[in-house]
Parts: sequence; structure tokens; C-alpha cells
Amino acid sequence: MPIGIVYHPIYLEHDTGRHPESAQRLEAVVAHLRTTGMWSHLEHVPPRAASTDDLLRVHTAQHLETIAHLARTGGGTVDVDTVVSPRSDEVARYAAGGTIAAVEALLQRRVSAAYALIRPPGHHATASRAMGFCLYNNVAVAARWSLEVAGVQRLAIIDIDVHHGNGTAEAFATDPRVLYVSLHQSNLFPGTGRWRESGRGPGEGALFHIPLPPHTGDEGYLQAFERLVLPAVRRFAPDLLLVSIGYDAHWADPLSSMLVSLVGYRAMADSLVALAGELCRGHIALALEGGYDTDVLARGVHGTLASLMGTESEDPLGRPREPETDVNSLIDAIARKHHLE
Ligand SMILES: [Zn+2]
Repeated sequence: MPIGIVYHPIYLEHDTGRHPESAQRLEAVVAHLRTTGMWSHLEHVPPRAASTDDLLRVHTAQHLETIAHLARTGGGTVDVDTVVSPRSDEVARYAAGGTIAAVEALLQRRVSAAYALIRPPGHHATASRAMGFCLYNNVAVAARWSLEVAGVQRLAIIDIDVHHGNGTAEAFATDPRVLYVSLHQSNLFPGTGRWRESGRGPGEGALFHIPLPPHTGDEGYLQAFERLVLPAVRRFAPDLLLVSIGYDAHWADPLSSMLVSLVGYRAMADSLVALAGELCRGHIALALEGGYDTDVLARGVHGTLASLMGTESEDPLGRPREPETDVNSLIDAIARKHHLE
């Protein structure tokens, strides 16, 4: 079965002006996938617009009206870094609906794995608020659709964007059907995602936060995978893996201070693909979140798709010379908190 990709030129129409989260990001990815020949080896899954019912499984009616009204009246900013342009409401609906389409293609066995190459990103959007470049929470909307429409019983969301997905965490903090695992740089925007937080009420244990210090690199991330992410997801035993994938933990990214290389991203992708094979018949769907160096982003997406296809990928950007921060004692503390050892 082929690997599915969801993409549509409509994603370029969310106009943020001079902004790190711009249409050039996806243009760079598509150009690179065409140049390398990857594009023609993918099964192109058409996106659809998320319906109001789809969005209301995560967001308030007031939030939908706020975004729609701002777009209708010419656009503006929701906060200092979150822009709504006249086309943004429809584009954001296609981003959420594109993520649903990726999962649907997977569950209907039209593809063996799926990647939603979408924008605007989603993981910071809360029930009632757009923030951090995000308008609607694409992965949360697709997760609720999977649970409430497609009959999925349990799913895990792995968020490897360098920022904490506060919106996704908030959406599932009380939901025992979902395990939300986030690796992020501690004390970076939006400042949430502390490791002692693990969900509330029936969702106790639903949140698994791994806030890593600045200058964590490939070794630290892979240790966190081996000792925390993989055992936590195995214990949860999901039917489906959803991945919020951001390439902004790369050492060249302008918005963070991590030292992950493309080799590290490839290793994380390989690890998640193997985990999906082991636990959920290979059912894995990924949705793009951040990544603000366009060269890193283009090569990073290519590497992730190569991982899904089981083909080689390269890292011409190399590794930084700076020393990596040691994260062993932090990992020990988080493992104890979640009774993993
Ligand atoms: Zn990010």
C-alpha cells in the first residue's frame, strides 16, 4: 500500500505577511519533494474542509464565530503573533479537515501511513482561543473525529514540535481514551507542559509531558524516546498513533535552542513507525506543526516520508559542535512520576 500525503494549494492562501509561519514554508517542502522525485511516489489524498460539527468537538461556537468574523471583515491579528487573513477561516478548516482526511485514508486502508502537509498549524489552539500561529487544533479535531465518528477506541498523540501543545493537552486532560505525549523545550512559548502535570479526574495519566532543557540534542531526545515515550505508549496500547510533527527542535531553527539534527528527526520517525507496526497494525498519521527554517523543514519532511516508505534519507546539514545538555536525571524523575521503573 502507498504512503498518503494530504496537500492542497489552498494552504498557501493563509496570508500572514512577514512572519515565520508563512506560505513559503510549504512551497519549500513541495519544491524539495518534487526535485527529489518523492512527490510522484506518494498517494495524494484530497483534503476537505472540516465541518462545523467537526470543529465543535474541540472548539466553542464562540471561537468559530471569532475566527469567521475576523476573516469576513478583512482579517487582523488575534494576538501579537497569530494572524487571520480574509481566507484564513476556510484554509484553517481545510487544515483540520485535511488531518481528518489523512486519518480516514489510513483507516479505510487506502494508504499504509499518512502525512498531512498543512498550515496553519494547530497544537496551540485551545477550545476558545487561537494563539501561537494556530487557529483550529488540527490534530485534536482529527483525534475527536477518530474516537467519535470512526470508532477508534484509544489513541496516542505524540507531539515532537519543540513547543508544548497546550491546546491539545487542554483538550484531552480529562479524556482517558487519549494519551498525549509531548517533548518540548522547557520554558519556551507558551510556558506550559510541566512534567508533574499528568491529567485530571478520569484523565489522570492522559498527559505525559517531557520538558527538555535548552541544548538537548539527538542523544537526549532518543534517550527520552527509549526510556519514556516508547514504554508509555506501549503501556497505553493505542489503536492509532497521531503525531504532531514540528521540525523546530532542529539546531538551525530560529525559534528554539535545541540541537536536534535531521539524523535525530529520522531516528524519531523510524522509532514511531516501528511502534505503530508493533502496537496498531502500522496505523500512524502525522500532521505538520512548526519548523521555521525552510531548508530544514523541506529536508525534514522528506526524511519523515522516507522513514514511512522505508527508504534512505540524507543529512547534508550535519550536526552542531556545541555540547548537548545531559537529561538523564530529568528522565529518571519523569519515569518515576509515571511509574515506568
Ligand atoms: Zn513549534
